[in-house]
Amino acid sequence: MSSTDRSCPSARCTPGNQLLGVKGSDGHVRHMRTAMTIDEDFVQAASELGTPEARMRFSSPCATSGCAQWTGSRCGVIDKVLDHLEHEQVPLSQALPPCPIRSTCRWYDQSGETACRACSMVITDQSAIAAE
Ligand code: SF4
Repeated sequence: MSSTDRSCPSARCTPGNQLLGVKGSDGHVRHMRTAMTIDEDFVQAASELGTPEARMRFSSPCATSGCAQWTGSRCGVIDKVLDHLEHEQVPLSQALPPCPIRSTCRWYDQSGETACRACSMVITDQSAIAAE
């Protein structure tokens, strides 16, 4: 697989993308066992309850240089997440979550299981949460 065939695990709620996980009552994301492609109806229904990216995670093909988070050689998001968790001394999950996109995931490709152990703590749209 080439570097351009990776999946973004923190994408927008857009038709054609896949539902990757749903935030649980503890604030951690529960990954789906099978990724589900979402359509316009899903996006509309999910948006009626507020910003979908504050409650769910989605995946899409990684856009590399077409994304503001691309550093030129890698995705900057997971690096920032891991730096933050280390700085705040937040323990990573002991268990490796089940994940339907691990074989293509950009973060897994970059940081291996360490990314997965932090992944359930990542919420794509933090701004909606901050506004709550
Ligand atoms: S970091 Fe790991 S758990 Fe998260 S989406 Fe990628 S492969 Fe799945």
